[in-house]
Amino acid sequence: MTAGTERPIRRPVIPKGPATYRMPPNLADYEGVRKSFRWDEARRALSGLPGSRGLNIAYEAVDRHAAGSRAGREALRFIRADGSTRSLSYAELALQTGRFAAVLRDLGVGRGDRVFSLLGRSPELYVAVLGTFKNASVFCPLFSAFGPEPVRQRLHLGAGRVLVTTRALYRKKVAPIRDTLPDLRFILLADADGNPEPDTLDLAALLAQAPPDQDIVATQPEDMALLHFTSGTTGTPKGATHVHEAVVAHYATGLYALDLHPEDIYWCTADPGWVTGTSYGIIAPLVHGVTVVVDEEELDVDRWYRILAEQHVTIWYTAPTALRMLMKAGAERAAGHDLSALRFIASVGEPLNPEAVVWGQDVLGLPVHDNWWQTETGGIMIANFASMPIRPGSMGRPLPGIEAALVARDGQGKPLIENGAATLVTEPDVMGELALRPGWPSMFRGYLNEEERYRRCFAGGWYLTGDLAKRDDDGYFWFVGRGDDVIKSSGHLIGPFEVESCLMEHRSVAEAGVIGIPDPVAGEVVKAFVELRPGHEPSEELRLEIIGFARKRLGAAIAPRLVDFTTNLPKTRSGKILRRLLKARELGLPEGDLSTLEQAGPRP
Ligand code: AMP
Repeated sequence: MTAGTERPIRRPVIPKGPATYRMPPNLADYEGVRKSFRWDEARRALSGLPGSRGLNIAYEAVDRHAAGSRAGREALRFIRADGSTRSLSYAELALQTGRFAAVLRDLGVGRGDRVFSLLGRSPELYVAVLGTFKNASVFCPLFSAFGPEPVRQRLHLGAGRVLVTTRALYRKKVAPIRDTLPDLRFILLADADGNPEPDTLDLAALLAQAPPDQDIVATQPEDMALLHFTSGTTGTPKGATHVHEAVVAHYATGLYALDLHPEDIYWCTADPGWVTGTSYGIIAPLVHGVTVVVDEEELDVDRWYRILAEQHVTIWYTAPTALRMLMKAGAERAAGHDLSALRFIASVGEPLNPEAVVWGQDVLGLPVHDNWWQTETGGIMIANFASMPIRPGSMGRPLPGIEAALVARDGQGKPLIENGAATLVTEPDVMGELALRPGWPSMFRGYLNEEERYRRCFAGGWYLTGDLAKRDDDGYFWFVGRGDDVIKSSGHLIGPFEVESCLMEHRSVAEAGVIGIPDPVAGEVVKAFVELRPGHEPSEELRLEIIGFARKRLGAAIAPRLVDFTTNLPKTRSGKILRRLLKARELGLPEGDLSTLEQAGPRP
């Protein structure tokens, strides 16, 4: 990843401006809290289900507020395309999510059954996620920009029983593949308007008939709550499973890494189809009882500045791609917007360019605090905290309760494990594989139906993240790059194998190699190199046909933006495509330059 390998600006940025100091940070004494922190104490800040019936994310996020003094407080504030808003209070959200749970129950959908969504940021999505938890079912969000093939594959792998979607998305992406999904029993249309498609149900009508089901089904901390698909280098997407106990980490990280205070107005720009959109777009802020702003539209520079100003957003959690788009649009676009309510800005998902940290300070009045985590960790693991100077280019320091280390690698790029113990990098500024000591509550509990793939993520007592990083003398971590071939484009993780497999279904393609190449805004864009079958000749027309084919099946967010024809895809002796070599060639680097990364053992 180029952005991560740029020379970082090492000068610390100390937040200035009155807004920063309006609120004492929750983590004022980092060292002290790290020493005394215990996860079971964090757990005590939550309520647990009444009557000692266990722990349920929806109860912590909604019902315990609805039962108390925050009942009337705005929980979700949706901003429609025209800028008008509609809100749900905690009490209303408790009612709606109870009804959704009752709808599931009446359909015979029960404990552990999978409820999927293919939705934009609409109220139905939020109601469905939390209502699913209340019914002890398992929620799996899908990115609404996926094409039919990624949707089919994930519904199939996750044995989706229910899908909540819209009429347009159903017609375009689900109807054509529905026959191949026998487990998918119920399709609930959020916008059926009294007239559902054949073999689908009208969600609004079902909700209207459902009794508000106040009793949340008993759930234990280890019961599965969420399924998030993520991409690896090889094979099918991996379904990372998360349990109700994750809410303890969402609470603690919301407190420390996002500095959430009860009166905050919070905006997370992540799409709820990905893990950030659920962990920090829904769960963490609601657990803290704050007001969550939800923009129903996609990124638009002027709209975003308007939202920050007019909604008086105090905490903003966004992503490097979005910040780069704002930077590109020019500082003058921010002028005239009163951003004085903002008191904390954080970013996640990709390397945050040091320039973006400084730009935040200059243009928004606050620097951007980078933090790091991944689908498998379920919650923020490493962060620049409100109470500390930021090191631009660094991901920050581990959260209380999180032990992070760098595992040295052997000559083959594999983690160095001797006699069952990992050899750790102890010197500053030396690269190793970022590793975390297992045991935090939001850690994934497995890859669905892939025990062996899950097991291979652990060695010598550590969870290996697949990312390469360094640590400086003061304990700040610096992202170096991925240890594998997975692509990050506009913050979305893309498995090259999934793209290659799709390309090879085109009649002209014999073989394909897919890599990410640097892009100033998206971080990386997907580029494919294809070898043609005999009888097919490269042409501009064929290139466009292949791109169109991939876009239709995979969706624009995953399909390659660029396709090159080649006759010599680099391969290992066993015939595996050497994507790293392809990348070195593409970037005009001596092939040895990527050798360290290339040697990295394949991530499952
Ligand atoms: P995902 O599982 O889709 O959330 O993607 C997780 C991956 O995104 C990580 O393993 C990193 O490779 C990358 N990532 C997340 N946050 C950061 C960050 N702050 N800096 C650099 N890379 C990041």
